[in-house]
Amino acid sequence: MTFHHLGLATDLLRAVAEQGYSEPTPIQQQAIPAILQGQDILASAQTGTGKTAGFTLPLLQRLKTTPFQGHRAPRALILTPTRELAAQVSDSVKLYGKYLPLRSAAIYGGVGIVPQIQTLRRGVDILVATPGRLLDHLQQKTLDLSHVEILVLDECDRMLDMGFIHDIRKILAVLPSSRQTLMFSATFSKPIQQLAHTLLKSPTLIEVAPRNTAAEQVTQIMHPVDRDRKQELLAYMISFHNWRQVLVFTRTKHGANRLAEKLTKDGLKTAAIHGNKTQAARTRALNDFKQGKVRVLVATDVASRGLDIDHLPYVVNFDLPNVPEDYVHRIGRTGRAGNEGKAVSLVCRDEYPLLKSIERLLNRTIAETVISGYEPTASLQSDVEPPNRKQSQQPRSNRANSQTQAKPTRSKAKSGGRDRKRLHTA
Ligand code: AMP
Repeated sequence: MTFHHLGLATDLLRAVAEQGYSEPTPIQQQAIPAILQGQDILASAQTGTGKTAGFTLPLLQRLKTTPFQGHRAPRALILTPTRELAAQVSDSVKLYGKYLPLRSAAIYGGVGIVPQIQTLRRGVDILVATPGRLLDHLQQKTLDLSHVEILVLDECDRMLDMGFIHDIRKILAVLPSSRQTLMFSATFSKPIQQLAHTLLKSPTLIEVAPRNTAAEQVTQIMHPVDRDRKQELLAYMISFHNWRQVLVFTRTKHGANRLAEKLTKDGLKTAAIHGNKTQAARTRALNDFKQGKVRVLVATDVASRGLDIDHLPYVVNFDLPNVPEDYVHRIGRTGRAGNEGKAVSLVCRDEYPLLKSIERLLNRTIAETVISGYEPTASLQSDVEPPNRKQSQQPRSNRANSQTQAKPTRSKAKSGGRDRKRLHTA
């Protein structure tokens, strides 16, 4: 299967060829023809699957074939949860649409509104926006959305998690009801299904990864460790394994700053991105990380959402997320577009219930390896499971000491037995 088979125009094929993509990814194979036919879609696809090109290419083609008439107002609206994602999607629109006479713009908060007003005044065909700033423009009457033909809700689950549902509803209220709507979401929670039900007309369902499962090519591992030794263990692992580019997740902005400072003191070039940083600082940190000037990027869930960093090999959960779905999003930063990746979680005792809910969502256990010298002072499980469940039910000979990916082991998860491994690293 090649991009030619999907019915894309030569202007788009040329832009795709310049990116060096030899064949469409599974989501592109399914989404592109459906969108070209004008269907609504509900797609469950994580970041890294090529979903952006999956909706951008056919969207561009549809707009190209029906040129604007008279007043140039947005005919496609792409909503994203974060500024970073809006900027990235906007870059993709420009990249894939470079041979088309279409204009696009990104509209998000944290930057001046006046240049955006000027851009909108000059006329835009495709608008990529975060909900909050878009509403500001609507309230100031600097934006006319009455000509929108195609609406894309990207990373919809995250938009709902971030509390954007009311903003989204206000935006929907000013859009024409006869339009094509495309919904993308990494997970299919109840609220997503409800929203899909109200928004989509006979949608084509596209599911490229099984529901709520983490990317196949990501090796997942967890190290039990005391909370106050996590930072030391992380610095040790980065240096010992010589990780050149690692994305580290913390739960709080404060925690991200603190960790970044400590790692910097340890001699590791580190930057932090979170909601309290200015947009300029976030963009700079991300660029430095992409260019290899920064080795460790510490991020909170919100700030990291949708980051497109090619071939990211390591993701570390310094803290486990409170919401299990965030774990899926986080590890989706690695193992992208066919590359192998590794997701490492540092788990202290009080996070054990969070680990259990993540494993329930994934329907698998995450392989556990104790790092020699960093053994936790108390068993992770002693608070939450009876003592006779602490030990693995497997015979010792079955407990391999290599760091291989854990296979789904439903029964073991139920019995409380874990793949307990010991790693002698020094
Ligand atoms: P996305 O899931 O949209 O964030 O895309 C993830 C990454 O895959 C991006 O870096 C894209 O440039 C890349 N990509 C998209 N489509 C393809 C393709 N057909 N072949 C190879 N890489 C792709």
